[in-house]
Amino acid sequence: MLNLLKTEDNLKELVDGLTFKQKVDRSLNLIEEALDEYGDSLVVANSLGKDSIVVWDLAKKVSPGIKGFIITTRYKPYATKQFMYETVEKYPELKIYENKEDIPDELYKTDPDKCCEILKVKPIRRAIEEMNVKCWITGLRCTEGRTRTDFKEVEERDRGLIKLNPILIWKEREVWEYLALYQVKVNPLYMEGYRSLGCAPCTQITTGDNERAGRWIGTSKCGGECGIHTKPLVSAAEEPAGV
Ligand code: SF4
Repeated sequence: MLNLLKTEDNLKELVDGLTFKQKVDRSLNLIEEALDEYGDSLVVANSLGKDSIVVWDLAKKVSPGIKGFIITTRYKPYATKQFMYETVEKYPELKIYENKEDIPDELYKTDPDKCCEILKVKPIRRAIEEMNVKCWITGLRCTEGRTRTDFKEVEERDRGLIKLNPILIWKEREVWEYLALYQVKVNPLYMEGYRSLGCAPCTQITTGDNERAGRWIGTSKCGGECGIHTKPLVSAAEEPAGV
């Protein structure tokens, strides 16, 4: 296990207690430790949102050759697709995964959980298997919304698959601070006022404190999760009996 996990730091205190520079250094150290531990099996999940873009930039500073994957869907906004193609042109080591199987029309309205399961969770399972991932890096932050308060910087939700959340304690302001200071390009949709980006039918511009409030408005998933961070990602065949 990583050394920073063993410190058992109180993450809520760190959110307010560390400076921007200390947070950047902590994130870089977490990625460095993971790289030492997992080598080529350390892979970045890049959703192309602002948080993922920070994490991708940090990971590239630690290891210029690090690989990643992008999960896309048929419902991603045009601007996000364009941004994805530009990003992959610059970083061909980012592999795109998309599930193109037939699904009922407007499944996102009638059963958004199922829609996310098919279009997002299934492809990430495939990415993890095909890329032989032992540790994946995400852009999760614990101040993003009601569903993201209980994550840890290093987690093992699926046996044998570590999830590293190196910017978990960053605030939204610090994400933008990093992107501005290091002049990292982001999806132009942020200029429209979005604070959290997802599929077009399930994402709206909102105001207020909850950064993810614009996701799945009008459904039971409002402000919630697609399942990538909450559902098992290792196929049942690889899980121990009884799980
Ligand atoms: S975010 Fe909406 S459109 Fe995208 S996979 Fe989930 S339910 Fe479907």
